[in-house]
Amino acid sequence: MKILVGVKRVIDYNVQIRAKADGSAIELENVKMAINPFDEVAVEAAVRLKEEGVATEVIAVSIGPEKAQDTLRQALAMGADRAILVPHAGTTEPLSVAKTFKALAEQEGAGLVMLGKQAIDDDCNQTGQMLAALLGWPQGTFASSLKVSGEQIEVTREVDGGLETVALNLPAVITADLRLQEPRFASLPAIMKAKKKPLDSISAESLGVDLTPRLELVKVVEPPVRTTGSVLVANAAELVEKLKHDAAIA
Ligand code: AMP
Repeated sequence: MKILVGVKRVIDYNVQIRAKADGSAIELENVKMAINPFDEVAVEAAVRLKEEGVATEVIAVSIGPEKAQDTLRQALAMGADRAILVPHAGTTEPLSVAKTFKALAEQEGAGLVMLGKQAIDDDCNQTGQMLAALLGWPQGTFASSLKVSGEQIEVTREVDGGLETVALNLPAVITADLRLQEPRFASLPAIMKAKKKPLDSISAESLGVDLTPRLELVKVVEPPVRTTGSVLVANAAELVEKLKHDAAIA
């Protein structure tokens, strides 16, 4: 069984996000980029399925700028067998990304597509669901554990009330939650080996997909700066006085 894994290049989660001065977009100049954290988890889970002998090949896919090759190399260093870059200079939207994965899943004859539950840049949480609908495949979203047996995959999902386990017929779409697997650190030899693994470039046009954004970004604003706190008081009476004074209580 071949597994396609989505890896999106996003702003590193440690970076303080800044809006451009004119509010037109998020500032990306000179900002550290990284693999989307949920995608790193998905890569780890896919590689483990290969190590267990359940999968035969793990193919990492990114739709993004040429620099997304670095992100794909990271997935290759973690154990993916090969990578596909679908070059695209601007922002990507869930529907066109889902269409791209559909075309690739059909082209590759994939048995499983594993994505992150959401990309931390846009927080859409839509691509996996849209992809499952387009392919007509079952979906196991927010997965925190997986077990493949025969033609089925059992997926434990993190839902509001606790954990829910569903059994899906393969082929299927899975989206990874943080607890699904702990991503490994790629060793230096693995990083060197990854440089020699195949990384193909496939245009969106050749897949019959139009990646032109359909949404218009109206405005981006940073959250209001938090006001500084003040040291309150020494005892309860002073506290009540201060609250009354600040009109917090009647
Ligand atoms: P989203 O629906 O945008 O929150 O994204 C959910 C998941 O879809 C991500 O965690 C990725 O696995 C995948 N995905 C979204 N956009 C891309 C992209 N441009 N390239 C590769 N994978 C993507």
